Amino acid sequence: MKERKVDWVREDNPSPASSVVKVQKIGATDTLVGSITSEVIEGYYTHWWGGRTVPHVKGEGLCSPCLAKIGMRWAGFIHLAIPGNGRGVWVELTLTARDELKKFLEKGEALRGLHVSITREGRRLRAPLQFQRLGRVSDTTKLIRCPELRPTLDRLWGKSESV
Ligand SMILES: [Zn+2]
Repeated sequence: MKERKVDWVREDNPSPASSVVKVQKIGATDTLVGSITSEVIEGYYTHWWGGRTVPHVKGEGLCSPCLAKIGMRWAGFIHLAIPGNGRGVWVELTLTARDELKKFLEKGEALRGLHVSITREGRRLRAPLQFQRLGRVSDTTKLIRCPELRPTLDRLWGKSESV
């Protein structure tokens, strides 16, 4: 009998078993240190509606806040691997924070593998996030995979449609 060679799929650092990962709030005096696992900043348009954030949905007449002429707000997310926390955390970025992070990246530099410290500007509540570069992860294959964001957002923003 002829032996057939089949390829296995090796993955040393799979995403956590459950992909719902905490979105870490960063308080005025907090400092969050970790390594970015995200390849890109994943972002969505949202509305402040009924006392909470809801995702803006596509389609003519399908988004209640749009029908009510409520403005849109962008929310971006990066995932960080944190020492001693196997699942890591998501960090929400405003447009201003996104711009700060981009400014701080060198031209053409990969987001994934960047080792950063995140604080709030002037240690003020709700001030823009500030990033400090602590270096790069020497071997990004050892860094956990960035989990899927959607299960976390479903938990955070609710699965129900806004109509
Ligand atoms: Zn909308």
